Amino acid sequence: MTWKKNDAITLTIEDISEEGAGIGRTEGYIWFVKDTVIGDRIEASVMKVKKSYGFARLIRVLEPSPFRVEPRCPSARACGGCQLQAMAYKEQLRFKERKVYHHLKRLGGVEKLRMASDARSKDQRPDMAVAGEEGEPWIKMEPIIGMENPWRYRNKAQFPFGRDKNGKLIYGFYAGRTHAIIQQEDCLLGVEENKGILGIIQGYMEDFHIPPYEESSHTGLVRHALIRKGFSTGEIMVCLIINGESLPHGDVLVERLKVVKGMTDISFNVNKERTNVILGEKVVNLYGRGYITDALSNITYRISPQSFYQVNPVQTEKLYQTALEYAGLTGKETVWDLYCGIGTISLFLARRAKKVYGVEIIPAAIQDARENARQNGILNTEFFVGKAEEVLPEQYHKNKVYAEVIVVDPPRKGCDKACLDTIVEMGPERVVYVSCDSATLARDVKYLGERGYVVRRVRTVDLFGECVHVETVCLLSNRKPKPDTH
Ligand code: SAH
Repeated sequence: MTWKKNDAITLTIEDISEEGAGIGRTEGYIWFVKDTVIGDRIEASVMKVKKSYGFARLIRVLEPSPFRVEPRCPSARACGGCQLQAMAYKEQLRFKERKVYHHLKRLGGVEKLRMASDARSKDQRPDMAVAGEEGEPWIKMEPIIGMENPWRYRNKAQFPFGRDKNGKLIYGFYAGRTHAIIQQEDCLLGVEENKGILGIIQGYMEDFHIPPYEESSHTGLVRHALIRKGFSTGEIMVCLIINGESLPHGDVLVERLKVVKGMTDISFNVNKERTNVILGEKVVNLYGRGYITDALSNITYRISPQSFYQVNPVQTEKLYQTALEYAGLTGKETVWDLYCGIGTISLFLARRAKKVYGVEIIPAAIQDARENARQNGILNTEFFVGKAEEVLPEQYHKNKVYAEVIVVDPPRKGCDKACLDTIVEMGPERVVYVSCDSATLARDVKYLGERGYVVRRVRTVDLFGECVHVETVCLLSNRKPKPDTH
């Protein structure tokens, strides 16, 4: 059977793709249909047909899945930011655990892996070998750490500004996979304050005829508003990203924003490039110290507009605690924290280690990391600006640094091979891999597995309720411990 655009098809959703689209079949042919939930029986309209799979648009839910819920956000479908809003939260968690499990098993080559909910291994501890089986023991994933309330958890939001069809100034979000801006006053994942702040910025732009940026002609000024809030301090930062070197009447904007409770820092960031990267390099401070602060487990962090900082602080704390537990520190260890950002994990580790070295590519983040260490009186840390895959080999070969434990927390693309090779050469007892993309985690786990490092513990933590992403912490250790050469 061949299908053409706009044909109506009826199918049952059996799985969810990496991007959160439902997957179903007609006569063996695979369809991806957004906004559906596993178990839905649906009618869809064909959009695109490829050789072995196609895309279709949801027309009607004929029989809802038992896991289907009414999305809370009126723009859930148009936005595409929350791919899982129609799925009950408990089911979202099961979906994420399954995703990590399948990645580690299929791509990562971790054959003896079980899910936490796997009945076969009910009374088995993760480290227990099965009698009569050869080789490595079975690993049972530890249960996913879900959120208590998967709404309004994000401490950071970036809203694009633009114009609607009638030329009216709007802000909102990009419609899924496009750069068309859809007006939306509030996002249910963000903090309540966002709406008032965005209204003030919009009013200021209207009053002074400050044009929003227009991507197609590369004209106009205001591209995005970045808003960040320290959940434990209540401090708020606003940074306008502009296609220019100065912000007209910036003083008025500051006066108007200052009245918002918690407003601590106001700045603009210069980004004159034709790019979809949001932030440019230069930040000009208009009000405040140039950063806000937040605290996690009694460590305070300063956060600059450009620095990476996890968006969900409540769950981040649990993620870092898991990483710390897996690191198994006693106070005697030398630890490397690769991809360390502003030193968040490094400082968690440093309280229990002899020495922690952090590596991060963004200089502003390393400045923050050093300052964070100093302000918290954590003196056993040292930070390097640079690529993990360059700094680690250099330090290892030139300065003979070593580590009992190496923690990595790379961006979605995972670790560079040169970085993994050096880890293997250094031969730490434990590698703790914190990952925001289980497919690249699995790829790297496979690579390390072929070089002697075996997965010992796995736990997923949900930092992104309503969205497809999930964080995973994986403990690996050397199958053949290296003779002690230090
Ligand atoms: N561990 C930190 C940051 C994790 S995000 C935290 O939990 O907050 C990943 C970080 O890796 C980002 O800060 C990014 O700037 C940095 N990064 C990206 N590529 C890198 C590379 N090749 N070498 C070192 N750091 C890198």
